[in-house]
Amino acid sequence: MLLQLNKVFKWYDSKAGRTFILRDVNFDVQEGEFISIMGPSGSGKSTLLHILGMMDEPSEGEYYFIEQPVHKIREKQRSELYKKYIGFVFQAYHLIDELTVYENIETPLLYHGMKSSERQSLVADILDRFHMVGKKDLFPSQLSGGQQQLVGIARAIITKPKLILADEPTGNLNSKQGEEIMDLFKQLNQEGVTIIQVTHSEKNAAYGSRIINLFDGRIEG
Ligand code: ADP
Ligand code: ADP
Repeated sequence: MLLQLNKVFKWYDSKAGRTFILRDVNFDVQEGEFISIMGPSGSGKSTLLHILGMMDEPSEGEYYFIEQPVHKIREKQRSELYKKYIGFVFQAYHLIDELTVYENIETPLLYHGMKSSERQSLVADILDRFHMVGKKDLFPSQLSGGQQQLVGIARAIITKPKLILADEPTGNLNSKQGEEIMDLFKQLNQEGVTIIQVTHSEKNAAYGSRIINLFDGRIEG
């Protein structure tokens, strides 16, 4: 088993009282699965993905990732697990403004202690594949939303992580780009990468092998 959520709740307290975002969420993910999380806006999809990506914590409940109790370990260990095993495609891209396209994509490889020549060849391959060779020295602010999304995807997959978490990965792409990304995800999945994507698109969801439906913070069905 790759990961497991046990009785996960997420809530926020305010003067108006307690608001539940996730309620009693339980599920297991096996290595090699390709899962789509669907549900109406505000149903908790992004929150769930952020918890899986260790950038948000459950208010209550357990999260095990490759046998590690993520809900118990310290921030530093969580960050190490994330960097070692997870690629995250953010809905709002989260690129580093001061770095070029090339440098943004290269960033995760630096953590993995790869030789400079190896890094160069991996980044060159992905720039080529994403038709972005000519953009490599531009900064995120000089790109369209779709191009920024592609850079965010490139950065998330370049280390071929064990787990890819993607929040509406094709939301700003045209239909041809979107299909290319879904085909790429499918190929990575066939090579053993586990993928969990949030999507509103039935077409994108069909690339996966399982759908998790969220409604008011609960898994349905
Ligand atoms: P989805 O991705 O399904 O649209 P989200 O996980 O983004 O849903 O959000 C679920 C609900 O949680 C929304 O109503 C949102 O306003 C609320 N929410 C998210 N983050 C916070 C926060 N930090 N404080 C209070 N409410 C939040
Ligand atoms: P989504 O489109 O996935 O629902 P949003 O645009 O609603 O995402 O949220 C973007 C970010 O703002 C998220 O990281 C979420 O945690 C935070 N957020 C959303 N709603 C609230 C809120 N009501 N209070 C504080 N933070 C929020």
